[in-house]
Amino acid sequence: MSKSIAVSDIPSTVYGRGSGRGQVPSTHSEPASAPLPTSPRKQGEELTSCPRRLSILGATGSIGSTTLALVRENPDRFSLEAITAQENVEALIVLAQEFRPAFVAIGNPAHAGRLREALAGSGIATGAGPAAIAEAAARPADWTMAAIIGIAGLRPTLTAIRRGGVVALANKESLVAAGDLVMRECAGHGATLLPVDSEHNAVFQLVEHAASPPSKITLTASGGPFRTSMPEQLATVTPEQAVRHPNWSMGAKISVDSATLMNKGLELIEAHHLFRLAPEQLDVLVHPQSIIHCLVHYADGAVLAQLSHPDMTVPIAHTIAWPARITTQARPLDLAAIGMLTFEQPDEARFPCLRLARAAMKAAGDAPLILNTANEVAVERFLQGRIRFTDIPGLIDAALSSATGNTPQTLEEIEEIDDTVRQTLSQE
Ligand code: NDP
Ligand code: MG
Repeated sequence: MSKSIAVSDIPSTVYGRGSGRGQVPSTHSEPASAPLPTSPRKQGEELTSCPRRLSILGATGSIGSTTLALVRENPDRFSLEAITAQENVEALIVLAQEFRPAFVAIGNPAHAGRLREALAGSGIATGAGPAAIAEAAARPADWTMAAIIGIAGLRPTLTAIRRGGVVALANKESLVAAGDLVMRECAGHGATLLPVDSEHNAVFQLVEHAASPPSKITLTASGGPFRTSMPEQLATVTPEQAVRHPNWSMGAKISVDSATLMNKGLELIEAHHLFRLAPEQLDVLVHPQSIIHCLVHYADGAVLAQLSHPDMTVPIAHTIAWPARITTQARPLDLAAIGMLTFEQPDEARFPCLRLARAAMKAAGDAPLILNTANEVAVERFLQGRIRFTDIPGLIDAALSSATGNTPQTLEEIEEIDDTVRQTLSQE
C-alpha cells in the first residue's frame, strides 16, 4: 500500500526530532527482505511511500554508485524517479537500463542525442542541459540524494529542498557556499535535510533524539595520504598520489580536499550550519584509522562516539531508510581485530587549508563562499597539473582578500560572487 510522505510533521531542526512525534526508534532493525514499515504513526514512524521513490542527482559518481548499490540490493524497498550525470552519458544509459527510472537527465547538452537514442522506446523520459538537471530535482520523489560535486550542486539541491521533501545531502559545497540560504529554505519549505557526509551523519545519529544540543562536536579526519609527509615532500606530490586516499574510496575532487585537509575545513562549516554550533564549538581530531567518525560532547561531561568501518554504505543506508534501518553488506566492526585506535592534532602548518577554512567560518559573510570557489578552482588546476599541491592554499588565501563581510542572500547573488571569483582567478 502506498503512503504519501508527511514531511510537514518533521521539524527541520535536528535536535529533538524524535520528541513530540512519539517513538522514533534509533535502532530500528529489520531483515533486508521486509518492506519498509507503512504505518506512519506506529513502528518506525514511516514517512514515505513503499517502495520509497528516489531521485539521485549525481548518479554516476562515487556517492551515486554506492546509493544505487543499496537500491540494487533492496528492489522491494526502493524505486527510482530520476537520475542525473554531467558527462558520463554511457554510464548513465547503463544505469537507466538497469534501474528504469521515470526520467534521466544529462547535464552536458552535447550528449542529448545519444541519451535520447539509447533510451528510445524504453518508456523512460530523457532531458539534457541544466534545465533537465533542475527538472530531475523537481520531480515528485520521496527522497532525493544530492550528490553532484561542487557548487554546481547548489541550484538542483535548492530545487529539491523547495519541494519540501527529504533531501539526503552529500554535496557539502552547497552548505559551505550557501549555508544560511540552504537552511532558511529548508525551514521555509518544511524540507528535511539528512546529512550524508560520514562525520555529519554520525553526529546526526547521536543528536537526533537529544533534547539538548551538544556543547561541542569533534569531527575526525584520517589525515589523508600525506599525513606523515615532510613539508618539502608536499611540493612535489602528484595528482595520482593525492587522490589515493588511505581509507576512503571517493571522487577525485574530495580526495584532493582530503589530502589538503580542506575537506575537514569544509566539513567544519557544514557542521556549523547543520547543527547550529558556533565555530568555537567545533573541532577536528586526526584519527588515521577512520573508525570513529565524530565525538559529540554534552554539558554534563558525556562524550558520544559513532563507529563503523570507513564505508559510505553505512551513512547512505542510514539516510535512504531513515528513520528505519536496513541490512547492508558493510563489514562488521571487530574492534579486537583492529586492536588500537590512535589520535593526533591536525598540523595546520603543513596543511594551511584547514586554518583558512576555520578563518572563513569565523569571518562568515561571503568568506566561506569565496573559500569554496577558490578551492574548486585550485583543485581543478592541481588535477590538471597546472599548479603544485602546495600552491593550493596560497591561491585560496589570495582570493579570500576580496571578501566583503556581507552575506549574499539569494541564489543569484551567490552565483554572481562565484562567477566573479572564478573570473578574477582566471586572469591571474
Ligand atoms: P564524483 O566526482 O564521484 O561524482 C560527481 C557526480 O556529479 C557525477 O555523477 C557527475 O557526473 C556529476 N556532476 C559533475 N559535475 C556536474 C555538474 N556541473 N552538473 C551536474 N552534475 C555534475 O563525486 P563524489 O560522489 O565523490 O562526491 C559527490 C559529493 O558528495 C561531493 O560534494 C562530495 O564532497 C560529497 N561527499 C562525497 C563522499 C565520497 O565518499 N565520495 C563522502 C562525503 C561527501 P559525471 O559522472 O557525468 O561527471
Ligand atoms: Mg566526510
